[in-house]
Amino acid sequence: MRTLVDRLATLHTLDADSYRALLECDSDTESYLKERARNIATEHFGHEIYVRGLIEISNYCRNNCLYCGLRRDNRNIARYRLSDNEIIDCCAKGYAMGLRTFVLQSGEDSTLTDSRITNLISRIADIAPEAAITLSLGERSKDSYTALFNAGASRYLLRHEAADRQLYSLLHPEDMSWSNRIDCAKSLIAIGYQTGMGMMVGVPQQTTDHLIEDLLLLQQMRPQMVGIGPFIPQADTPLGYHTAGPIDLTLRILAIVRLMLPNALIPATTALASLDADARNQAILSGANVVMPNLSPACVREKYAIYDNKAATASESAEGIASLQQQLNTIGYHLNFSRGDFQQYDRL
Ligand code: SAM
Ligand code: SF4
Repeated sequence: MRTLVDRLATLHTLDADSYRALLECDSDTESYLKERARNIATEHFGHEIYVRGLIEISNYCRNNCLYCGLRRDNRNIARYRLSDNEIIDCCAKGYAMGLRTFVLQSGEDSTLTDSRITNLISRIADIAPEAAITLSLGERSKDSYTALFNAGASRYLLRHEAADRQLYSLLHPEDMSWSNRIDCAKSLIAIGYQTGMGMMVGVPQQTTDHLIEDLLLLQQMRPQMVGIGPFIPQADTPLGYHTAGPIDLTLRILAIVRLMLPNALIPATTALASLDADARNQAILSGANVVMPNLSPACVREKYAIYDNKAATASESAEGIASLQQQLNTIGYHLNFSRGDFQQYDRL
């Protein structure tokens, strides 16, 4: 079994059967897998963890994903949208704390037009000239993605959610399509964005076969960023009755993805930290190299309730960042405040 780990670490690709063996491996192989993933991350990034300031700009969403608390039909959520000035204010505070990447994330809110986002991007560039702007605003047209890229956004997070069409359609209403999601990801890559894909682990009906398909899709598309977190139920959604996804399997998949994509930017997700305070460090020890503290104003943070009991990943306060730093120090890592762009290595 260790040979499979070594092969993935050397060749960065495996076939479906080998991925199955790793997904189902014994604890000895799992420890070895994580150790190799951790070492390959250290080779590329040292003990540095990139920090990205997350701003949740609106919880209005026109979509109805069955797993997400922001879904259109959820009447139990208090909706909010930040004004442009509030968003700029969040970036300015983050910039003053040293952050050099801002992630604007949102439900699919119709007020987030191209002209509004374009204007926001140029205002952020004015106050934070050398900062990178990452968007995570869901599915848009290729023209829209191009306009936002030309305006200065250089990264886009759009998890594929499920590589398997059938699983995708179990998790989404009929008006959402797997092909459009994948086409959006392909457009983002073609335009030149550093593109993030990924999925939840432990969503209802997900099997090992589905996860293998996810791994094969990531292997084929080789995105620059990969977000992987456990599914966590939100009581006001159709999947709210289900149990949360397993932390162990999520960490194992993180380690596999690190070996597959050695130089990718892989966050230790808030969903992991929400299930177990120690899981963020465990993710880093399994190869993750990004954290995303929340810069949203405290008064709206609870309203961005994609799932229940969401952890506050540090606050916008300097103390919040300091406590994140301290937590990482306990495992010998520290925060890196630079832009942390994806670097292509010739030898890969
Ligand atoms: N609306 C945009 C989109 O869907 O790409 C961005 C915001 S959406 C809340 C960001 C991510 O949250 C989704 O890609 C999904 O994987 C994750 N998410 C949604 N509901 C979740 C849940 N119940 N548990 C864990 N993650 C969840
Ligand atoms: Fe909307 Fe994104 Fe939630 Fe789906 S996952 S309901 S698109 S916010």
